[in-house]
Amino acid sequence: MTPEALMRDYEDLSTDAGFQFRFHCRRCDAAYVSRFQPCVQEVGEVLLAPVGELLAEVQHETSEEQIAEGAPEHESALRVAATEASEHFHECPRCGEWVCDECWNSAILQCEKCAPSEADEHEAAVGAAGDPATG
Ligand SMILES: [Zn+2]
Ligand SMILES: [Zn+2]
Repeated sequence: MTPEALMRDYEDLSTDAGFQFRFHCRRCDAAYVSRFQPCVQEVGEVLLAPVGELLAEVQHETSEEQIAEGAPEHESALRVAATEASEHFHECPRCGEWVCDECWNSAILQCEKCAPSEADEHEAAVGAAGDPATG
């Protein structure tokens, strides 16, 4: 299963050295940062054939932009990170949001918004009891 909802809502912490992403709980500020995934460098250098002097101009223009989002490496790294994060979040079957353990009702298997703990609702009626002064 691919947690596509997580893949659409993330912070990109990637650098030149590798990929890293941060995912947020949809109910609170809790965040999960995926493990750093170093860029995969091919062993050996790519031989640059001295064929295209004309192409050099074009390559110079696009070389940096092609590394950004949309690159196959970026997407696969994001997929790995989202899958990793999905182990720390729960997808509510009712509202479809991804929430953290704190916002998850594990007894009902829904988020706290869809299935609030019953205990909270009855708590307000309880009065304060205590000893004002004892010795
Ligand atoms: Zn949360
Ligand atoms: Zn829910």
